[in-house]
Amino acid sequence: MNAPAHVVVVGGGSTGTGIARDLAMRGLDVTLVEKGNLTHGTTGRMHGLLHSGGRYAVSDRKSARECIEENYVLRDVASHCVEETGGLFVKRPEDTDEYFEEKLAGCRACDIPAEVLSGEEARDLEPHLAPDVDRAIHVPDAAIDPFRLCVANAVDAERHGARIETHAEVTDVRIEAGEVVGVTVRHESGPGSRTHGKAGETERIDADHVVNATGAWAGRLGDLAGVDIEVRPSKGVMTVMNTRQVDTVVNRCRPKGDADIIVPHETACILGTTDEEVTDPEDYPEEGWEVDLMIDELSKLVPILEDARTIRSFWGVRPLYEPPEVGSADPTDITRDFFLLDHDGRDDLPGMTSIVGGKLTTYRMMAERIADHVCERFGVRADCRTADEPLPGSEDHEVLDDAMRRFGLRSPVARRSSQRLGSRTEAVLSSCDPNPVLCSCEAVSRAEVRDAAAQSGTDLNAVRLRTRASMGNCQGAFCCHRMASELYPAHDEPTVDDALSELVEERWKGERHALWGEQLSQAALKYTLQATTMNRDADPVGTDVAWGDFDAGERPATDGGR
Ligand SMILES: Cc1cc2nc3c(=O)[nH]c(=O)nc-3n(C[C@H](O)[C@H](O)[C@H](O)COP(=O)(O)OP(=O)(O)OC[C@H]3O[C@@H](n4cnc5c(N)ncnc54)[C@H](O)[C@@H]3O)c2cc1C
Repeated sequence: MNAPAHVVVVGGGSTGTGIARDLAMRGLDVTLVEKGNLTHGTTGRMHGLLHSGGRYAVSDRKSARECIEENYVLRDVASHCVEETGGLFVKRPEDTDEYFEEKLAGCRACDIPAEVLSGEEARDLEPHLAPDVDRAIHVPDAAIDPFRLCVANAVDAERHGARIETHAEVTDVRIEAGEVVGVTVRHESGPGSRTHGKAGETERIDADHVVNATGAWAGRLGDLAGVDIEVRPSKGVMTVMNTRQVDTVVNRCRPKGDADIIVPHETACILGTTDEEVTDPEDYPEEGWEVDLMIDELSKLVPILEDARTIRSFWGVRPLYEPPEVGSADPTDITRDFFLLDHDGRDDLPGMTSIVGGKLTTYRMMAERIADHVCERFGVRADCRTADEPLPGSEDHEVLDDAMRRFGLRSPVARRSSQRLGSRTEAVLSSCDPNPVLCSCEAVSRAEVRDAAAQSGTDLNAVRLRTRASMGNCQGAFCCHRMASELYPAHDEPTVDDALSELVEERWKGERHALWGEQLSQAALKYTLQATTMNRDADPVGTDVAWGDFDAGERPATDGGR
């Protein structure tokens, strides 16, 4: 029997991890390479809305139909990543009846279940809606956790034999005799307990086929292969609020515009967004007016947002694509649909295919489409199984409920742990006794932190993404050091200290965009706590301190020698 074709998938976002899983399940030999950690790109910087399709029901019905189709599939196969919140399209007095009716007709034409609610009925469901909201359309929007989703895809791809290589940047697409034959990858030091290439080394990886799943970076990978890929990256801001002011996804029912959605997520709410074309997916201005706009506009839908506390803001870049002949001037007019670019037929360059555009909600469908294409090239007759086979952790809800009862852990700790861990709940929570809660804002216990660290090594930001520890209200003020302590004594003091610094710096990156009012006081308190109790302002750990050179001298009488 011939060896299976070897496919290199570039990009560790939802699209790339979904493709790696699908191809590996169909028996191909797969290597996924990602320049950062999984979800390093747009997938780790989005609202977390599992679209019902309602947002596109007027302007982009093809995308709307794909969204509702995949919405149902993901509730099934990735139930531990999805929270069934439901969604509302709410109409304010100044929004037109015509558009409301168009939205309703669009939902119905795309088979999106849509129920009209009066203002009172909508407020019964979502009490903080503005008193002058006239009407609303209820749709099956939901919240989805992109981090757990990608990890689950990657883990399952590995189970099916794939090699997942993070911190490995493709620096060249190798072409021989007019055909792509592989990639050159530079390995960086990758934290984590998985085996990585050695930091600083380059590796040539031969491939029978290369799949470009680099999202907003697809044009850059195209440049390495000498082909034009007309990605139109567009940035959007997201502002995180201190609590869950709404329990349902709230969308504004108007044609288009910035600041028209609120997504409840775990213990917080995410407000979004803007849509502005940028030239560089990694270097673009993060502007204060964008954050102000979120509060000003969205408090017209949910007035309590005006006085609520903002805990951080972050930006993501959409990997939008449209064929060059379309030439939309306004990025909000660019389709949210996805495109498969077969470089053999398109650019006379066999051996490489790109997938561009799309949404996280449609990642599985995008992966299926490209896996079909690759399998066809290599004559592999294997059906796609990703719409039927649950992702790891999602197999059996009863396992989660049983575990909650058996451990006698109080809700919401048990409920939230079991949502995160899925069918692994029992095994993980029983691995630690006693099992105190280390992060009270997000209800994350020691067992979960240790489990995540066993998979992520000293990368506390990866532990954070797996567990949500340090992502809540206090933004790590009271738990960063507890998370770091869990690395000791398996890792030495300077290593633990570096891990803590990286975690604290990453938290600060988003927080600095929300420094006013109470949040400013909280940030000042956090800084003071960490500076004074952990020496974060002048930490001698890791530096060569010649303690012998210190002359203690006589103890001053005033401070008791402390
Ligand atoms: C503001 C905003 C809000 C959004 N909200 C939603 C939402 O609520 N629901 C929804 O469904 N969708 C949403 N989206 C869209 C969705 O987030 C994206 O479509 C999706 O995450 C893209 O995933 P991807 O895997 O294609 O790209 P990415 O997640 O960007 O993955 C590409 C990866 O390729 C890697 N890479 C790049 N170059 C190289 C290289 N040379 N070598 C190795 N690796 C490389 C990058 O590091 C990156 O991790 C939103 C997008 C934005 C910007």
